[in-house]
Amino acid sequence: MTRIDLHCHSTASDGTLTPAQLVTAGAAAGLDVMAITDHDTTGGWAAAAAARPDGLTLVRGAELSCRWFGAEEYPIALHLLAYLFDPAEPRLAADLTALRSDREQRAEKIVDKLRADGVPITWAEVHGYAAGGSVGRPHIAQALIRAGLVGTTNEAFASRWLGAKYFVPKADLDVFEAVRAVREAGGVAVFAHPRATVRGRVVPDQLIADLADAGLFGLEADHEDHSPVERAHVRGLAEDLGLVVTGSSDFHGTHKTVRLGAFTTAFEAYEKIVSAATGVPVLG
Ligand code: AMP
Ligand code: FE
Ligand code: FE
Ligand code: ZN
Repeated sequence: MTRIDLHCHSTASDGTLTPAQLVTAGAAAGLDVMAITDHDTTGGWAAAAAARPDGLTLVRGAELSCRWFGAEEYPIALHLLAYLFDPAEPRLAADLTALRSDREQRAEKIVDKLRADGVPITWAEVHGYAAGGSVGRPHIAQALIRAGLVGTTNEAFASRWLGAKYFVPKADLDVFEAVRAVREAGGVAVFAHPRATVRGRVVPDQLIADLADAGLFGLEADHEDHSPVERAHVRGLAEDLGLVVTGSSDFHGTHKTVRLGAFTTAFEAYEKIVSAATGVPVLG
């Protein structure tokens, strides 16, 4: 059986393994195929490719921060996995650069809010944890842990910390624009954890149908943030809409407890993704 994990993070965003360590760990975990999908960056691609062990196929991708602006009340944040796109395609590359730069400003604002309440962390410290990659709330969580205010990353996401009290939104991409940009760059777009109600509000099925019409290629069904009922629902929706179904760990190293290969994608779905992409080839 081919073991395929299409959603993994490295230190290029909020994972804790370097891209080289990530591909090594993937092979050690018995994966045949793994994707590197850092938040809003392709910054880990080169190092992952250079360190790729024989026998491991590497899918280069990213996880794009998006938002659906059509929701009632306020917009809903969502994540789009983009696979095998051309990183030099100007529009998508500019989008990624803008997202990363906003992440820096937003993280600094969160740090300022915390400091205003006397929390002893600094932007320099948080920026240092991000080590040149896409900065995210897990890096701020790391500072809160160091300061002894919370015990785990998960605790830092409680509403009294980064979940609500010290929450500042990001300048995400309009999800329809993002699907279009990924396709124009020769990539394939898969909606990450679309039913993860544990993370907050989720989009209605009609929006997923509209995204399918706009060129969305697949839905991530098997994910730790989906209950068994939510996984089954996503599978049914994918079948109705003619979308591929994926499963993946969303591995983040020690920022999360999930292990590489905890959820996997069927070979047939993987093959469809690879066949549909024209941006860059898989490696290996
Ligand atoms: P950000 O991208 O800065 O908004 O931070 C969100 C990131 O934090 C996501 O990519 C998740 O990987 C991670 N995250 C979200 N919720 C939690 C949680 N409860 N525990 C640990 N990590 C989380
Ligand atoms: Fe993350
Ligand atoms: Fe995500
Ligand atoms: Zn992810």
